[in-house]
Amino acid sequence: MSTPTALIGIAILSCLMSVAVLGSLLQAQIPGIRHWCVASGLVAVTATLILLRRSDTVETGASALLVVASLLALQGFRRFFHLRPSSMWEYGALGAILPGLVYWTYVSPHVDARVAVISGFLAYVRFVIGWVVQRYRPAGRPKYSYHFVSVAAVLGAVVHAVRCIAYGLGLAHETTFLEATPINVAFLGMVILTLPCLSIGMVMLAHDRLAERMERLATIDDLTGVLGRRAFIARAEALFGQAKTAKSKLSIAILDIDNFKGINDRYGHAVGDRVLAHVASTISGETRQTDVLGRIGGEEFALLLPLTGKEDAARLTNRLRAIVAASVSHAPASDVVCTLSAGVDEFGACDTLVSVMARADAALYAAKANGRNCVMLAGSSQDRRDEPTEATASNQS
Ligand code: GH3
Ligand code: MG
Ligand code: MG
Repeated sequence: MSTPTALIGIAILSCLMSVAVLGSLLQAQIPGIRHWCVASGLVAVTATLILLRRSDTVETGASALLVVASLLALQGFRRFFHLRPSSMWEYGALGAILPGLVYWTYVSPHVDARVAVISGFLAYVRFVIGWVVQRYRPAGRPKYSYHFVSVAAVLGAVVHAVRCIAYGLGLAHETTFLEATPINVAFLGMVILTLPCLSIGMVMLAHDRLAERMERLATIDDLTGVLGRRAFIARAEALFGQAKTAKSKLSIAILDIDNFKGINDRYGHAVGDRVLAHVASTISGETRQTDVLGRIGGEEFALLLPLTGKEDAARLTNRLRAIVAASVSHAPASDVVCTLSAGVDEFGACDTLVSVMARADAALYAAKANGRNCVMLAGSSQDRRDEPTEATASNQS
């Protein structure tokens, strides 16, 4: 068995394994996986046709399939990152290459020209894959798999580019397709090495997307899009630890929608859900990036305010209360207005998360007892409702 035959055999096996693994992930409905799966299958078919090498027609068909498969793989990567699958010029290039392959096979046979053109296109595709993966790598995810794919893609691109230049400038020469010349064996070896790396990389990206979904399910409250209770508590413990070390201020507000049961009873549970989402998005939209909002109960939210003392926290929370009270949640039959009550306190050096939350909770109960739609600071009987806020000021003007 010649070396190119052995290398192509390895490529077939690796592509078939990729099809099996990517196929097992199809049900996860991750964008791009179907394209990767079909592309890997097409490369396996291409490699098998090349091995058979029965006629010029089979060879030309195999080359055409390889070009189409590489474009499909690129489209898979673009879909994975929710980008437009292909630009017009890529379809144009494909439309020019395919007749070119026919021309250099039947009209004016020229193996080197075919190799140069195919390698040039594959080099382009691999470079773009490497770039897309780096450019659109999601922030906050482990970088390893994305770097792995980019490196594998760019290495393949370099090999194809060198091959394109070597054959295009006449530095390398073949009289028959995939002749077992030393330079050809070297090229094939390097390309075939990067192929399974790219396939493994696709699987790694798909797994990262699945992990991201699971983490999101575990941390984000589905209905409101803010942190769920468990994730909020974990974040609060971490921020409290940081504040203690840095001796910086940290405050917490617990906000509860007033008479929410009445909203459910009057408008229905679905409208109640909309009101919850509306309140969460209104608060999120009015707080700083460093503030942390969580849904800690049915209609109860907690807001962590780093670098903020209790007086400022009470003022800020009162502002949020006024904004929510002045806003409207749009429901199909009628618009709904709701109000919030809140209790606020600041973390002390000797506090635990439980103790400070208990004080903020007690202040929230005091706010409810005070007639609702107001903010109370723990240890104070002063109602913040009448303090001017931007929201009330703009309403009055
Ligand atoms: P208060 O002003 O004293 O807080 O009165 P309230 O009616 O807001 O409080 P209560 O604890 O009596 O009722 C809370 C209601 O919130 C009861 C529960 O059915 C409803 N609720 C809890 N979770 C959800 C949810 O996810 N969606 C909807 N629509 N309602 C929910
Ligand atoms: Mg309530
Ligand atoms: Mg409640």
